[in-house]
Amino acid sequence: MSVRVRFAPSPTGMLHVGALRDALFKYLYARHEGGTNIFRIEDTDRTRYVADSEAEFVESLRWVGIDFQEGPHVGGPFGPYRQSERKEAGIYDKWIQELMKLGHAYKAFETSEELEEMREYQQINKQQIGYYGGAWRDAKPEQVAEIEAAGKPYVIRQRIPRGQTIVIEDLIRGRIEWDSDTVDDPVLIKADGMPTYHFASMVDDHLMEITHIIRGEEWISSAPKHACLFDAFGWQRPIFVHCPVIKGKDGKKLSKRHGATRVLDYRAEGYLPDALINFVALIGWSPGGDLEMMNRDELVREFTLDGLQPSPGMFDMDKLRSMNGDYIRATSIDDLFEALMVYAENPETDSYWENYEPEGDLKIDAPAIRSALQTLVKAAVADPVYAKQAVQLEQERVTTFADFGLATEFFFLDEPPMDEKAMDKYFRAEYVRELFTTLLGIFEDKLEMSVEECEKVVRDYVAAKEFEKPGPVVHPVRVALTGKTFGPGLFELMSLLGPQRMMARLRRALTLL
Ligand code: GLU
Repeated sequence: MSVRVRFAPSPTGMLHVGALRDALFKYLYARHEGGTNIFRIEDTDRTRYVADSEAEFVESLRWVGIDFQEGPHVGGPFGPYRQSERKEAGIYDKWIQELMKLGHAYKAFETSEELEEMREYQQINKQQIGYYGGAWRDAKPEQVAEIEAAGKPYVIRQRIPRGQTIVIEDLIRGRIEWDSDTVDDPVLIKADGMPTYHFASMVDDHLMEITHIIRGEEWISSAPKHACLFDAFGWQRPIFVHCPVIKGKDGKKLSKRHGATRVLDYRAEGYLPDALINFVALIGWSPGGDLEMMNRDELVREFTLDGLQPSPGMFDMDKLRSMNGDYIRATSIDDLFEALMVYAENPETDSYWENYEPEGDLKIDAPAIRSALQTLVKAAVADPVYAKQAVQLEQERVTTFADFGLATEFFFLDEPPMDEKAMDKYFRAEYVRELFTTLLGIFEDKLEMSVEECEKVVRDYVAAKEFEKPGPVVHPVRVALTGKTFGPGLFELMSLLGPQRMMARLRRALTLL
């Protein structure tokens, strides 16, 4: 039977990195097996429903290149793929009737006050909390008919078998057993007639012929209920695969503190989708050996479920950053420049930095990043060849697309911001005025200069002044030309700036001495 897996989020907010990993594992597995990847929207909990959420999921997944062969946006033979629409179509009604007929579900009429009382009683008496039967599990049919006729609201609960051992074979964890007396009777249909996750999800998994339920470990405690439901209907159970949780580097539950955010924020911060995918795939999964950088095709080829680890996966932001830098360096300059421009011109990028709120102690100057990216966009329109060369010179040094803004800014501004401390340090010496004046004299009759020519000019001055090292020349020149003490190789950046720009900057520097 060919593999069919589903990514079935509840549209309650943004797509975070944890859910991305969930979606990614299924996508990789389906592709590895030549199977079908299904997208299903589990929107039966209307109190938590967020209208924009589905569109956000679709856009996030499109950006990282996770595609589906079936789903609300692509259609397919098992639709509709939104549970609210499936409810409208009467799908769950039909199956809950069937389940009641089979004796595996029952109506329960407790009010919320009565349920609260039950809970308190269980707490006080140190009993297991939950609904294990109440007054209705074994109520006589006449009793049920009577109260129903009186119009009292009810829910429909699953009748978990008692006095048995429930066993599932989890693909990662192996055999897991539960004493069925410790598994409560979950609500399957709420008082307003809406199915709960437990019911809708499992009915759909059966009807959509899902072969593997791959999901987060937080669902393990629901697995015995789900297994019983499949058994109750006499349906073949799918294979359960509960993936390890993701933790921060400190071993704590993953949160924004660890740098884990909304997937689209990674885009806005300038991460490459392929780097993100590669990084996320390695949280809790390993192809064996020390293979780390893997492109999409390699991931697909290597991905098998037995590479999933039972121990928690770790989210390491530093690793993502370094991987992203590696991906930037591994990209050809033409592709890089094109992708960078798509990034910098995206209005979402600009609004992200405009509304950026600093988290923790990360020193991020969002207004400066924003303005530098705008400068880059303008520069690329004015002189794309020059802009691309500037980008290429910084390719070795940046971590994200966002970094390219500040890194290249000095190439494009007539008067780049000057680092006061650097001026203080390198502009004070006696010879600096003469150095700048000499260079001005040399640059004056040149239209362009090669990297070698630039190097020769600097080395000649070092030799003429009998400096032991080039530092006393290199540092003041770098500060005069770029305003900073760091950046790409001096001779390369000099050559790219060219004599005209260098002269303007040296003249300005002379006024700052
Ligand atoms: N709708 C559930 C969620 O949002 C899906 C859980 C599952 O995969 O079974 O997490």
